[in-house]
Amino acid sequence: MQVLQVSAEMYPLLKTGGLGDVTGALPDALARAGVDVRLLLPGLRPIRDGIAGLRPLGEFVAPWGLHMQVLYGQWNGHGVYVIDAPALYDRPGNAYVDADGVPYVDNHRRFAPLGQLAALLAHGFDARWRAQIVHAHDWHAALAPAYLHHTRRHRAHPAGSVFTVHNLAFQGLFPAATFAELGLPKVAFQMHGVEFHGQVSFMKAGLHYADRLTTVSPTYAREVQGPEQGGGLDGLLRQRRDVLTGILNGVDTRIWNPATDRLIAQTFDARRLARRALNKVALQRHFGLARRPDALLCGVVSRLTEQKGLHLVLDGLPELLARGGQLVVLGNGEPELEAAFRAAAQAHPRAVAVYIGYDETLSHRVFAGTDVTLVPSRFEPCGLTQMYGLVYGSLPLVHRVGGLADTVVDAALENLADGSATGFVFDRFDGAAYGAALRRAFALQARGAEWRRVQRAALRQVFAWDAAAARYVALYRSLLPAAHETTRPSEALVPERAVRR
Ligand code: ADP
Repeated sequence: MQVLQVSAEMYPLLKTGGLGDVTGALPDALARAGVDVRLLLPGLRPIRDGIAGLRPLGEFVAPWGLHMQVLYGQWNGHGVYVIDAPALYDRPGNAYVDADGVPYVDNHRRFAPLGQLAALLAHGFDARWRAQIVHAHDWHAALAPAYLHHTRRHRAHPAGSVFTVHNLAFQGLFPAATFAELGLPKVAFQMHGVEFHGQVSFMKAGLHYADRLTTVSPTYAREVQGPEQGGGLDGLLRQRRDVLTGILNGVDTRIWNPATDRLIAQTFDARRLARRALNKVALQRHFGLARRPDALLCGVVSRLTEQKGLHLVLDGLPELLARGGQLVVLGNGEPELEAAFRAAAQAHPRAVAVYIGYDETLSHRVFAGTDVTLVPSRFEPCGLTQMYGLVYGSLPLVHRVGGLADTVVDAALENLADGSATGFVFDRFDGAAYGAALRRAFALQARGAEWRRVQRAALRQVFAWDAAAARYVALYRSLLPAAHETTRPSEALVPERAVRR
């Protein structure tokens, strides 16, 4: 089965959040399951420069006339196609925003080619390999199912499409005028298409046209069907609920394993838990915190945005400090949140430490050295940091929402009694509920043996990518026969304008 993974990010080349972790790990797991998997990525500089030996494969033309090279190479044993278009991708800032954090105004042009080329690769652009399934991730790749749909009629063996929502809050919305540049038939700009309240929505294109939809946790798959988390697309998601499933992300244990992690001060596992203490000492030393082995050391590794519920951490800080706790924050994002955490660290240098920035190595040390990982997100499609917290024995304190609800079991008495507890979970998204969960953490810490029992239960959690991959493979399989039968009407056909060398 030939499956093309289409994404804007891939760890370790380019990662701004969980999307990169997922697309960095899933291809290997799919390959282990027997899938012939290839990747399609935009030629953002870290990607183009990070893959050695890329060679030109051909050229295609954007509907607005830009000629783009397609490069081909190998990454971790997988074939990878890279769109080489310096005019689109050689820019300061990160993948999506400029150096000031403002989204590039031509992001529709920067990411539409991902979808366009994905469809071409399903239609024989590469004479040696044809995608039978196109699996697109998040809004950047979401036009792929639309292009596929509108070019299917002409193909004997149309590819099936899967679209995975990693975060419905980022929808890829653009002014109506941009539609003309996408090369989709006029019929696509309507309610049953890519139009969303008079704008072009890449996310909606994926949700409307893909044969199968997934989100990154079962609970989030349910939540997005409601108005609160549906981002205006809940009606469509309810309509399509028969093809929508939630598949929980895994943890890549080649990277995230405290027993083998070279980035942390001291390796450990459930049987050698005492060794973990060295990581706490190292973290306290690194950040200049008071070296108190008994202090409840809480950690945040996060984008600093409204979504992540970090105002609860700020509001709860006086109580955390009053009870003798400490806080380490690794993150960047909204200036107000950055400033608030910086101010807290200045006011309490021995108890609060903040590193504003992105630092992969430090993130490992925070999970290995803290007692508690705070993830009080307002919403959370899957969340990886609570899973990293679990497998590193830093008990997650989370809001019962999305993937957080699916992965953490509260240290309530009944869960402590049967050994299922792995962290602290609060229901209402407010300071009182967060504070109560924090007090449960302090109370459990005071009962050392019980804390260690919960820690061992957390350390033994397995979030296997192979299990997730098996579910994706089942989805791909379910699609293959259907995909071969499908023919749908169309006008249009940008991908046909491809130029082969
Ligand atoms: P999201 O995708 O919403 O940002 P996730 O929890 O799914 O949230 O994934 C976040 C990923 O980014 C995790 O791998 C986390 O460790 C990492 N991360 C977030 N902020 C930082 C940071 N400042 N430094 C290093 N890693 C970070």
